[in-house]
Amino acid sequence: AAAGEAPGEEGIQVHASQEVDAQMSQLVQLFELSESERRLRHLLVTLFQEVFSEFFPGCAILPFGSSVNGFDIHGCDLDLFLDLEKTKTFQASAKGPPGAQVRMDVLGTKCTPLQAEEGAGPDSDSEDSILSDIDLTTATVPEVLELVAAVLRKCVPGVHSVQAVHSARRPVVKFCHKDSGLLGDISINNRLALCNTRFLQLCTEADERVRPLVYTLRYWAKQQALAGNPFGGGPLLNNYALTLLVLFFLQTRSPPALPTLAQLRELTGDGNQAIVDGWDCSFSQDTSRLVPSANTESLCSLLAEFFRVFGDHDFAGCVISLQEGRALPLPSFLLSEVGAKLKLGPFNVQDPFELSHNVAANVNEKIALRFQHCCQDGAKYCRSLQYQRKSSKGKAWGLVRLFQPGVLEAGELGLDGLLITIPFTLMVCAAITFVLKDVLKCSCTGPAGEPTEQGGGEQPIVGSKHPRSDEGGSLSVSPAKKRPRPEGPAPEEEESVSWSCAVWHRVWMGRRRVRRQLRHLGSPQPDAEQEAGSLEVEEKVSEAIIQQEGDSMGSEPLLRFTACARVGGGQEDTRTLLCFTPTPQQGLLFQDFYHFLQGFLPRMVERYVGRAAWGGQ
Ligand code: ATP
Ligand code: MG
Repeated sequence: AAAGEAPGEEGIQVHASQEVDAQMSQLVQLFELSESERRLRHLLVTLFQEVFSEFFPGCAILPFGSSVNGFDIHGCDLDLFLDLEKTKTFQASAKGPPGAQVRMDVLGTKCTPLQAEEGAGPDSDSEDSILSDIDLTTATVPEVLELVAAVLRKCVPGVHSVQAVHSARRPVVKFCHKDSGLLGDISINNRLALCNTRFLQLCTEADERVRPLVYTLRYWAKQQALAGNPFGGGPLLNNYALTLLVLFFLQTRSPPALPTLAQLRELTGDGNQAIVDGWDCSFSQDTSRLVPSANTESLCSLLAEFFRVFGDHDFAGCVISLQEGRALPLPSFLLSEVGAKLKLGPFNVQDPFELSHNVAANVNEKIALRFQHCCQDGAKYCRSLQYQRKSSKGKAWGLVRLFQPGVLEAGELGLDGLLITIPFTLMVCAAITFVLKDVLKCSCTGPAGEPTEQGGGEQPIVGSKHPRSDEGGSLSVSPAKKRPRPEGPAPEEEESVSWSCAVWHRVWMGRRRVRRQLRHLGSPQPDAEQEAGSLEVEEKVSEAIIQQEGDSMGSEPLLRFTACARVGGGQEDTRTLLCFTPTPQQGLLFQDFYHFLQGFLPRMVERYVGRAAWGGQ
């Protein structure tokens, strides 16, 4: 308590900070995987191991990432590494003398009809076998991934939407487990991920404050639309980078709450060096050898300090190093060997093992700046009485209030919510409707009573205002009622509109090709190759795709989702956050559509608003 404060006040403060600590621990309990969810993951790993061992003798399926690093949440993806080292050795010994062609029988194993049937997908065929003369020592990553994808499609029961993604920094095969809706990735050249997963795990074992702090900050960052796009990509911080930032923060407390990697390395015995992909990944994995931390800060004060420290941190001017547990100033860092290779940006967090990799290289200036502002707001709130003092009138306090000022509230976003940020005006809402309905030919439920164009059945979202259709098909939107704010400063302007949508055609596929065809047919569109064309052209593109799809429209839409747009918090914040929530079990199809929307929707909205500003709409 501050000097001069009454003793009674101090008592309340201590008690209240314990309450915030309890809230943070509760957050972990709320989000972490349940026993049955863990069991399901374990069973899936066992199943994959069994099936893949048939095709790749000696291989190992090893989970990494949030399923095992201590930062799991309901529905988090299942990251798997397929270790083929032993298979390569096996294959080399089975090859025989040079020149003799030996087919790997195991790679030619036939799926049983039952397996092929259950391994859903149109290309499942009981007569199909997966024949491959692939030599794992010389095969390219795409070749092996395609083989992995084929095994998944044809021989793993209950798995669907299998897709090899070659363009990612670490290429993967994505899949969806049908019954649970669980999404997963299999990679084959990501051994470093096993090391950093173990490091994250070790940190959670070394100090029990790590999990509550990381869960709280992950949730806060997601609420503020700073992090957590579950499909990756885009300019947001990913969960791995954010977690490293929290660990770095704990390394740099005084006294430190976590050891640096250099200190952990010193604890490894001689001869225990582990080199992975050329990087020294040795560190002591034995928590009993760690000197217990002398840091006794409460979770409540660590959270406040996190905001204070990073609200004032020069992210662009240094590189955060978990190896050394300090921020490395750019001038000297750039002179080092790894410094010359690391991709610098407005947010620089060095991977703890792959030292030339900036794990936050995707973060753009806008998000970096917003991260800093949000930290400053967080720090300000943590200095207020509402943070530490439980309200006797049942008003929001502590973490609840910290999460509230964000533009989206807990529950509404859900863990599967996806965010697109665009500048807000009421016109934007009309534009979004136009793009979804007219350009992309989705059916959208308007205000209560308005019929859908096709199918129907989409329910308006309770508690938010819905756009209204005028005769021209575009929408005029009036601000929703302000939500009652629990307490504190004057409520910010806040408006929200929601759409409940159904997608009937794959209008996001092959647009570039169709655009080109239309151009050949005479529609002038000079920039069609690079980017989307005018609103009219894009409408025509959708119509052409629908026509080309033929009469294949079923009685059920391909996808259903809700989109909720809300103006940003704060006086100057005029962004619109668009939160897309798919109905469950739509897996990769929605992921594809969302990826497309990420680029397409903001551009189209801009065009619509721009044209309206010139009096055209
Ligand atoms: P969640 O899946 O809940 O978002 P996660 O910790 O599994 O959390 P992912 O993005 O799925 O995060 O990443 C899984 C693993 O992939 C990480 O533990 C890390 O090993 C690796 N990884 C992810 N992003 C990066 C990155 N930007 N740079 C290097 N490795 C990364
Ligand atoms: Mg993951």
